[in-house]
Formats: sequence, structure tokens, C-alpha cells
Amino acid sequence: MEGPKVIFVSAEATPFIKVGGLADVAGSLPRALRRQGVDVRLILPRYATVSPRQFGLERLAAIPVPVGTGETRVHLLGGEVEGLPVYMIWDDQYFSAREKVYGFNDDAQRFAFFARAVIAALDYLPWKPDLIHANDWHAAPIVAWLRYYGRRGDDFFARVASLFTIHNIAYQGLCGRLILTFARMQELPHLEVEPPGQVNWMAQGIANADIVNTVSPTYAREILEPEAGAGLHTLLRRRHEEGSLYGILNGLDTELWNPATDSALPQTFDLHSRHLRRVNKAALQREIGLPVRDNVPLLGTVTRLDALKGLDILLPALERLLAEGEGQFVILGTGQPDYEAQLRALQERFPQQVRALIKFDERMARRIYGAVDLFLMPSRFEPCGLGQMIAMRYGALPLVRATGGLADTVIDADASPEKGTGFVFRPYTPEALLDALQRALRAYAARERWDTLQVRAMERDFSWARSARAYADLYEQTLHLVGKGG
Ligand code: ADP
Repeated sequence: MEGPKVIFVSAEATPFIKVGGLADVAGSLPRALRRQGVDVRLILPRYATVSPRQFGLERLAAIPVPVGTGETRVHLLGGEVEGLPVYMIWDDQYFSAREKVYGFNDDAQRFAFFARAVIAALDYLPWKPDLIHANDWHAAPIVAWLRYYGRRGDDFFARVASLFTIHNIAYQGLCGRLILTFARMQELPHLEVEPPGQVNWMAQGIANADIVNTVSPTYAREILEPEAGAGLHTLLRRRHEEGSLYGILNGLDTELWNPATDSALPQTFDLHSRHLRRVNKAALQREIGLPVRDNVPLLGTVTRLDALKGLDILLPALERLLAEGEGQFVILGTGQPDYEAQLRALQERFPQQVRALIKFDERMARRIYGAVDLFLMPSRFEPCGLGQMIAMRYGALPLVRATGGLADTVIDADASPEKGTGFVFRPYTPEALLDALQRALRAYAARERWDTLQVRAMERDFSWARSARAYADLYEQTLHLVGKGG
């Protein structure tokens, strides 16, 4: 390959392990970049649920990782998975014995360890990257190390560029400064935005990468303000003023997400056979035990149950809508126990209209995308959001709040009758959401209009090609900064 060599560092990636959108991006962007001639390789931890053999990954080497006062040995695994060279760090303590990706007390230590292991692996590998593409706070220690250690002491690392991508600014990896002893980075300067005695890895990634980007143009602007910036807006403004902060909309893997070939769907369909969706709607209603009715609007969402996802306005808005006897609602999600309980209570109050499926289930997610009429994403913040793009491709109209990537991908059908692809509201209130829901239901009742909107939504092109080109350009620009541009 002619293009630059890039190591793509992520805590999660499909098809290995997925918690949210980061996994979708890490699974598909590197492949799209390879199609453009960029030699991207992926590196991630090996978790307990991932079978190296299943993916044909082999042990390449045992590598010593310098942490604390000693060294810990890990195995470096490698192989090619669906055309993408992949490396995994197999350790005994922090990842390989754990089934979850996040949510442990020692997460900061786990990912500091991962970062040190990636650095050790790069030193060891015969393939040498020109650029490290670090994603979210889990990979940020690499970027900080590169600036304050790697570039000072080593010929190879002195010429490696770094790009840091913010997938969600809300998760920052805040921890005590003792972590720096463990990570052997005691000299890392304390940042103004960090509380005394603490390290904020997200902030360290933003402050120390050559270039920073996030996953939609609107989110790149929003995080310059205090509310969306989650404490880091002053730092982000500095990077923005230097011309080092970008927004590139995520794409969608249109092979993985294709209603014409999706084996999870009872009935596959495409734009021209979209009327067949009703088979999926009936099948879903039957499967989850809701009355099988074609002409009742079926609302749905697939989401992590997190405050950022807008559940605080969704629950009261739905209560009011459902109390009027309108529509059915299905939600698939896991997360905060209080939301899980509230959703179960909603189902109990409206047993003929609501199903709360509290689990992570990729197959069910696909059946929901392929069956519901309206897909709800009333997020408080949404860096990019994949659900609305998948929904459109699967012929479900999105109803979204105008924030982040949702604002960049959905056009309101009432505000732009000629271009609309869904429904958009702005104030973060149950009333504004309810108003949008009622507008959507009016459109649903006018079948021809709904069909026109559905065609437009399904015709939208969200494939990765355009975004991958933008990333390839950003890589070039980043490489120029270390004197390596093509
Ligand atoms: P985030 O990354 O904040 O979770 P995104 O919209 O970018 O939000 O991506 C969410 C992805 O995770 C989508 O592909 C969605 O279908 C999937 N997902 C979320 N919750 C579940 C669940 N409970 N079961 C299956 N898939 C889920």
C-alpha cells in the first residue's frame, strides 16, 4: 500500500466486542480507509468473550510491558480479519479475564496498561506506523506519552504523528495522579482543566495530540460551549483557535447494515420492495406480544440507557402519548438501573402498547430497525449517533433532537417539505418532544406523504467512503506537522 501507515487504537471494535457506536466506527472506518490505500491496522485488548482462534489470530510474540516498578508480560496476537490486519493485547489481569469492556473500579489502570502495552507492541513490530490514531480516553495515554516521552528519547517515536478522536466527551477517564506512577509518566504536566491531584485522560488526549477531531461538525462546535464541553470547553477552544479541531461525520457500514441481506430480518427488503416491511412489523409485534396491527404506528428505539440519551424527556412524553391510546412502543436497551425500572413500569402501565426489552441483543436490534415506523432518538447530546442512520437505511423515519450528529443527518419534514427525512425538535423538554411525536403521527396518517419521506430516508447515502476520504486528508495534514506529509 502506498498511503501512510496508521495504527488505529480502540477499546472496542466490531466484530470482536461492542458496547456502542465506537465499536461500529473502529470496525468499519479502518476497512474503508484501506479501500482508499491507507495502510490502517487495528489494535485492541483481547477480552474474555473474544476467541482468538475463531478469528484466526495467532500469537506473534511475548512482550514485556513496563508498568509500576516492574514489567508485566503480555502476548501480542495478530492476524487478518475480513481484510483488516488486527492486533490484540492478551494479558492475564486487566482484560482477558473480564467479560465487560468498561465499568470496573480499575478502568483507569486497565487502559493505562493497555496504552503501555500498545507502545511496547509498536516498538516490537516490524511494521512501523507513521501515525497513531487514538480513540477516546482509553487510548489517550498513548498520545500523552508520545509527546512527553516518546518524542524525546527515541528516533522512531520522534517522527510518529498523533490524531485523537473524541467519540464522546462525557466519558473522560478521571482518576488520581497516582496512575502516572503506574504508567511511568510522572512528568506529564498537570492541565488547568484537571482537578488538583487528578488526571483527566480525555483532556490529556485533547491537549497533547497533534490534531483532534470529533465525529460530527455540529458536535465539534457544541463542545466549545460549557454545557456540551463537559468541563473541557476552554481547552477545546484553544485547540479550535489553533486550527487543530475538526468534525468529521461518521459513516455507516452499508454491508453490515443492509435490509436487503440482513439475515436477522424475517423479511428482507429494499427501497423498491419497502412495502414488505409490514411483514417484519407483524413478526415483531407477534414476537414481543403486542397486538398485531398494521395500521397502528409502531415507535421504537435501541439505545444504551444513559441520561445522555434523553430518557428523562422520553418517558413523560410517551406516557402522555400512550395515555391517549395512540401507538405502540418498543425499546431495546440496557444501562442505568433506574431507567430500566422506569421502562418496566411503563410496560406495566401500558401492557397492550409497550414492550421494554432490557438486554443487549444485536439480532433484536436489527428486527426493530426493520420493523418500526418511527425511530426515536431524543438525545440530550449525541456526538454522531448511528441509530438514526441505520433507521433511515431500514425505512424507519427518525425522530431526533437537534443536537450533534443528529442535527447533521436528519432533515425535518415539516420545516423542509421538499427535503425532509424525519422529524426534528430542539428544546430539551417533554413538551417539545411530544409536539414532534404528534407531528410524526399526523404524517403517518397521511400514507402517501409518509411513503415519500420513507423513500427519501432510504435513499440517503451514509456510506463510509466520503468520511474515509476526510480522514485520509486529515492524516496527511497531521503527518505534515511532523514533517512526513506526502
Ligand atoms: P452510542 O455510541 O452512544 O451508544 P450510537 O447511536 O452511536 O450511540 O451507537 C449505538 C449502537 O449500539 C447502535 O449500533 C445500536 O444499534 C447499538 N445498540 C445500543 N444498545 C443496544 C442493545 N441493547 N442491543 C443491541 N444493540 C444496541
